[in-house]
Amino acid sequence: MKTKNTNENSELMEKIVSLCKRRGFIFHGSEVYGGLAGTFDWGHFGVALKNNIKQNWWKKFVDSRRDMYGMDAAIIMNPKVWEASGHVAGFSDPTEDGKQFNVMFKTHVGAGEESTLSYLRPETAQGIFVNFKNTVDAFHPKLPFGIAQMGKAFRNEIAPRDFIFRQREFEQMEVEYFIRQEDWEKYFEYWRGEMLEWMEEIGLDMGKVHELEVGDGDRAHYSKRTIDFEFDFPFGQKELFGLAYRTAFDLNNHKLEYVDEEKGEKIVPHVIEPSMGLDRAILALLVSAYMEEEKEGEVRSYLKFKPSIAPVICAVSPLLKNKPDLVEYANTKVFAPLKAEFGRVAWDDNGNIGKRYRRQDEVGTPYCIVVDFDTLEDDTVTIRDRDTGSQERVKVIDLEKYIKDRI
Ligand code: ATP
Repeated sequence: MKTKNTNENSELMEKIVSLCKRRGFIFHGSEVYGGLAGTFDWGHFGVALKNNIKQNWWKKFVDSRRDMYGMDAAIIMNPKVWEASGHVAGFSDPTEDGKQFNVMFKTHVGAGEESTLSYLRPETAQGIFVNFKNTVDAFHPKLPFGIAQMGKAFRNEIAPRDFIFRQREFEQMEVEYFIRQEDWEKYFEYWRGEMLEWMEEIGLDMGKVHELEVGDGDRAHYSKRTIDFEFDFPFGQKELFGLAYRTAFDLNNHKLEYVDEEKGEKIVPHVIEPSMGLDRAILALLVSAYMEEEKEGEVRSYLKFKPSIAPVICAVSPLLKNKPDLVEYANTKVFAPLKAEFGRVAWDDNGNIGKRYRRQDEVGTPYCIVVDFDTLEDDTVTIRDRDTGSQERVKVIDLEKYIKDRI
């Protein structure tokens, strides 16, 4: 038996794209009308994967901390925000003929002559900055503290490509961490560690993650130090996430400040920004998890997701779907209670058991539970492990605990 991660394989991207479509993770946007470049639609398992990643992120960076405040700002903001932030003047990429093209999506707010030109946000960060005062007034946080937001961002990329890597509509998860200027190096280092820890936690192949110190000429206009976390995607080593020291650039531009109530002084806090793209996280996760195993001349492909992240935690099957006793037992005594407890539980009675295993392998389901004739006698089921293919007998009454112990 040979297990390999086929990252070297030049066909890996094609395999992942095809699996994502076939198994209901990710579809090309507006496909029935010929598609729309740079957009993707997420199917049942794709949404489940996204939600798991987002929940995990929120839990780590917001819920488990005392110094973090959540935020969900509007996507369409007053255009003055984007003038102040520097995006109207400078958020551009060169086109093929060398002209600068501003990649912000324009839109019009309101009707007729009253309408004003605005933009769909190209980053979630500004929604956080313009709510700095609201957050401080509402919660009176002491420095250092952070505001976290996840949500859609839009960029009219000149050349969207590489599946969900470079899209025109994507999702970001960002923290703006407000500090005193003199502490920036300490917190830069701290957030570097936090980001690496999270990447490992969700199951990225850390051997494929590289840190790139972005040089003086290459940093964004607001940044004094930036690290790009790059990942070995099948199409090359490319930016996965970024960590930037944004100085006091944004708060200064929006003319916002902070009053230290204890010291009675006014300061403009500086900012460390860990910025993570959800879609790139998912692509890196798919690349990390995709496995092929050759056994007796047949190739089995599976997604080795961590149980905490997998879109389906377990699938329940009656051994034969034309035996009402088995179906009834599997449905009422196994599937229904597990579904009620975990939500992400699949019912699979299509084709023979081998085919069901292959299907669940491709979805990345860690455990397949089968109800057979012995179950009717002794109230035990077979649990088959996705990665090893090994099977064990477990009492139905212990199933919930079995799963809980593994997520
Ligand atoms: P790139 O250099 O690849 O265009 P960027 O440096 O402009 O990316 P940032 O502005 O730092 O990206 O955005 C923060 C994060 O948002 C990125 O690290 C990435 O994860 C994600 N991201 C940016 N642009 C896109 C896009 N077009 N499609 C998907 N995710 C994106």
